[in-house]
Amino acid sequence: MLLKSRKESENLLLYRSLFLRMSLCEKDVSHYQRLEKGYAGELLFDQYVSSLTNEFLLLNDVLLDFGNNLFQMDSLAIFQESVLLFEIKNFEGDFYVKGDRWYTLSDKEIKNPLEQLQRSESLLRRFLQEHGCMLPIEPFLVFVNPEFTLYQAPMKTPIIYPTQIQRLLRTLANKPTKTTHLHEKMANKLLTHHLSTSPIIRKPDYSYEILQKGIYCSHCYTFFKEATETRLVCSCGTTESIDDAIVRSVYEFMLLFPDRLVTTNVIYEWCGGVVKSKKTVRRVLSSHFALKGHSRKAHFVLKS
Ligand SMILES: [Zn+2]
Repeated sequence: MLLKSRKESENLLLYRSLFLRMSLCEKDVSHYQRLEKGYAGELLFDQYVSSLTNEFLLLNDVLLDFGNNLFQMDSLAIFQESVLLFEIKNFEGDFYVKGDRWYTLSDKEIKNPLEQLQRSESLLRRFLQEHGCMLPIEPFLVFVNPEFTLYQAPMKTPIIYPTQIQRLLRTLANKPTKTTHLHEKMANKLLTHHLSTSPIIRKPDYSYEILQKGIYCSHCYTFFKEATETRLVCSCGTTESIDDAIVRSVYEFMLLFPDRLVTTNVIYEWCGGVVKSKKTVRRVLSSHFALKGHSRKAHFVLKS
């Protein structure tokens, strides 16, 4: 049973928005591309797991803070006799291991993903113990990209290579899944402690003035140029209702500019002219957000 689904992190949404609306420096572009790639890898893993029909409890993308240690887990699967912790990587190309260090074939050192997994495992174990759960944890580092190769890797590691994913799925399909209210209680503990917003560590410099205004297509990421009375139409064939597109733009605006007030005029300008009528913007804001303040100080906030 899927108890928590995955969605794009605020970090990814912010970088994606900036990437589309301004020119980022090379370092920020590669950071953004890593975020997109990582997310695509997680979605690919979700696709594999969704083929399983047995009834375990599945939580994706859980962020916890245990004793001031923030840790994020890509997927957690709670079975009858153990909790499976998955760290998912979408690395592409050739890598090698030397001692505890990982390198690309061009000798650039990368963060050791096994250490990351061990850290999460240790923090998760302490979290579960504190909440009275004694189930053992089985950690897995899953590489989903078929073009990934790792040289000189030690044999006894929790690594799952792309060629081993089908076997992993067969193992999961045969695991005992008789979960009880104790398993559900543990899942609930994880859900209630999950942090829905993660601190964005590093933000590129940007300002409202330099960002391109408009609404981009959520399929091909080009800016909409055409609109009918009720829909935005992209050249890629995607259409989106004006209401959905405006709401999406407001969320994006709030993420980029948490200190700015959301008003009809501001959002009308933010949409870059593709929404022709201010009345439409006002109607959508009024129905999807809460009005706060009076007359000239009136602005919209998230509904509580
Ligand atoms: Zn499009």
